[in-house]
Amino acid sequence: NKMVYYFGKTKTEGKGKSKSILGGKGLNLAEMTSIGLPVPPGFTITTEVCDQYIKGGEKLPKGLMEEVNKAVKIMEKELKKKFGDDSNPLLFSVRSGAAVSMPGMMNTILNLGLNDVSTAGLAKATKNERFAYDAYRRLINMFGDVVMGMDHHQFEVAFDKVKKKYKVTEDTEVPAEGLKELCEAYKAVYKKHCKEEFPQDPVKQLEHAIKAVFGSWNTTRAVRYREIEGIRGLLGTAVNVQSMVYGNMGDDSGTGVAFTRNPNTGENKFFGEFLINAQGEDVVAGIRTPQPVAEMPKWNRPVHKELLAIKKILEDHYTEMQDIEFTIERGTLFMLQTRTGKRTGVAAVKIACDMVKEKLIDQKEAVMRVPANDLTQLLLPSFKPTARNAADVLTRGLPASPGASVGKLSFTAEDARERAEAGEKVILVRQETSPEDVDGMNAAAGILTSTGGMTSHAAVVARGWGKCCVAGAGEIEINAKGQKIKVNGRTFGPKDIISLDGTTGEVISGEVETQEPKLSGDFAKLMKWADGYRTLDVRTNADSPKDSKRAREFGAQGIGLCRTEHMFFEADRIIHMRAMILAETENDRRAALKKLLPFQRKDFEGIFKAMNGLPVTVRLLDPPLHEFLPHEPAAQKAMAKELGVKPAEIVKRAEALHESNPMLGHRGCRLSVTYPEILEMQVRAIVEAAINCSKKKIKAQPEIMIPLVGTAAELKMLRAQVEATIEEVVTQKKFAGKLDILIGTMIEIPRAALTADEVAEYADFFSFGTNDLTQMTFGYSRDDINTFLPDYLSQDILHVDPFQSLDQTGVGQLVDMGVTKGRQTKNKLKIGICGEHGGDPSSIDFCNRVGLDYVSCSPFRVPIARLAAAQAAL
Ligand code: ADP
Ligand code: MG
Ligand code: MG
Repeated sequence: NKMVYYFGKTKTEGKGKSKSILGGKGLNLAEMTSIGLPVPPGFTITTEVCDQYIKGGEKLPKGLMEEVNKAVKIMEKELKKKFGDDSNPLLFSVRSGAAVSMPGMMNTILNLGLNDVSTAGLAKATKNERFAYDAYRRLINMFGDVVMGMDHHQFEVAFDKVKKKYKVTEDTEVPAEGLKELCEAYKAVYKKHCKEEFPQDPVKQLEHAIKAVFGSWNTTRAVRYREIEGIRGLLGTAVNVQSMVYGNMGDDSGTGVAFTRNPNTGENKFFGEFLINAQGEDVVAGIRTPQPVAEMPKWNRPVHKELLAIKKILEDHYTEMQDIEFTIERGTLFMLQTRTGKRTGVAAVKIACDMVKEKLIDQKEAVMRVPANDLTQLLLPSFKPTARNAADVLTRGLPASPGASVGKLSFTAEDARERAEAGEKVILVRQETSPEDVDGMNAAAGILTSTGGMTSHAAVVARGWGKCCVAGAGEIEINAKGQKIKVNGRTFGPKDIISLDGTTGEVISGEVETQEPKLSGDFAKLMKWADGYRTLDVRTNADSPKDSKRAREFGAQGIGLCRTEHMFFEADRIIHMRAMILAETENDRRAALKKLLPFQRKDFEGIFKAMNGLPVTVRLLDPPLHEFLPHEPAAQKAMAKELGVKPAEIVKRAEALHESNPMLGHRGCRLSVTYPEILEMQVRAIVEAAINCSKKKIKAQPEIMIPLVGTAAELKMLRAQVEATIEEVVTQKKFAGKLDILIGTMIEIPRAALTADEVAEYADFFSFGTNDLTQMTFGYSRDDINTFLPDYLSQDILHVDPFQSLDQTGVGQLVDMGVTKGRQTKNKLKIGICGEHGGDPSSIDFCNRVGLDYVSCSPFRVPIARLAAAQAAL
């Protein structure tokens, strides 16, 4: 296989090749070269070589360095400079780049090829000694960091010494003399640490650098990032070796990063930052504060104009918002990178809608463009305007990633992670974040930094996750050791709560009240387009009128699961429920149930009213009875007193109801088999509520769902009871109207799926309860899985939590079989899903494939499911 792909004037071999081989960066360098943008020439070593390198025990495959040499020769010819030359050397950047962009995860080495002799040569050739030694000190530093794994701090100490000596604070103020001394100091630090001299042979440097980039694929933080992001199945990283251009040649040079549109709001306006006389990661590292690109015309108008022209060329070519990196060498602009820009959910929706307007993409493409899960950000609370107005604003930083977050201060990533795991809401406060912090950033409710710009590490990562972030709040003095921040004379510690507004950049003292989001504007437009493409219906899981109403506003087409057990827990009802459980005779039980009936009827009326005209699937009582009894002695005593019985009686009953394995015990339809009067009460409440609604011209469409069925016989018997009860109520109430109540079952026991043809005889509909189905198919207890899931994930036995994303190969077979067999018996059988999976995009895709009629999910995931259903259909 070809190992090296050249890009430059001579040829562009990577054009149109695959990202999985060249990596995103390599492929886009080739693409940009081929559409005529000013890209310094170079070549890409494929991800396949990385794979061979790792599998082959960290050895470069045979023939690679020969191919590399050939490419170097072409570059030398194009640029009329020689790699390793003493007087005017060709220098390289060595950059990683996998198929999926992983910000900051793998390190770049710049100015590779310099040594003592050629640095002097470069100084002479460019008549710029300061620049040459600045480049050399950077190389020694980066080479030490990346290749030798040195601690960056040791270089910093040396740098501070030099700055002190020359009485300056900024890197750029250190004179040539100082940088020369710094190079000597760096080499000493290098030698002390690595027990060898900094390598003077450019070819050795290159070989080491290539190996280091390959090796960085498997560093802990890279592996962790892939884990968090669920990135799997890649070969490794490609290596991009590119000729250097220099942004550190003086005040006519610089470097910058930009987005072709605003990544926070989506606004169609070039958005970025640049630094004068700087190189590489100076902009993102937050060492100096960059200027907004909008200020560039004051510095160099033609370059600014050229950038805007390139924005258009790139967007026309990729029909996507781009995230670019560029460098200006003595007034000449060079493009160093482009990729699809990360953006917030809000921006994703706006950009998709705008690009349809601009005729860059069509509606279908717009629907495909927005990752369904990113809508979460549009569906999360924001601060209440009234509470906002009264807020105690401490300071303002940059609005780096929108949203509202509230939490207690945390000063290290580790602390943030630990406290978040213990259930606390924390705001991670750092001067600037680095890739080592990703775990804590992920766990925190929000992120606050005191330095760094809109494109700093914290900002980019937070936006990618849709996490609220305020960056560069410069008025905040952070004392991480002392766990304190000081801002405008006030001090806050780890127990203090602050609120962050990622949309305005404000940092607020105390907790600001939040409010629910609305579905309007571009968001509503995109949802409408999505509805035009999807074939799956989207229902919601709701058991209160409030949730039902909410879900309906979000576009729910019915309730797929109304759990009735929650209705029994309120103070005025639980007492009757407990009386029913304690009852020893059927008569006593019926008496207690009679008292529960009006409550249930009222609940159902409320829900039917909220869902007027839409189906409501009501699941009959499901959990084992002991869940309704108190287990603490004090609570048992209180209950005894309220019911006028001896505490011992309650203890006895609780003991009698105790099960070793309650999830597989006396629950679901098994309760109805033993206590048919419970079923009767619930069905009566449903029917009476429906009749009451009908009298008020409200169209109630109840569907009665029997849980935990494993055999057709269970359903046959219980269906007959449900029908008889409906009959009885209708006769009693002398109701002449039409009710049309469907009776169906959950498919959540593997046996029900295996015998779905028999079960379907007695069902008007199926609803896959994939929570229990997953539990019983894997044999993993839903409530205990967290004791071993982390090990299973880290050892790659499982890739995701099967309770979050449906296991399509295993559990999915049962779903597929249940659908096929069910419809063998009744070809129009209505089938849905009501487990947690109903709101998970990849599970929704599966549901669409196996032919379900609807998915059902929590109210706030309804828009996500609508979009995912459209994407599944397209
Ligand atoms: P990342 O994956 O972190 O974006 P890059 O490979 O893009 O890393 O390199 C980081 C930075 O190094 C770039 O943004 C750019 O400023 C600088 N750089 C990379 N290649 C070159 C080059 N050929 N000439 C000048 N600077 C470069
Ligand atoms: Mg980097
Ligand atoms: Mg980059």
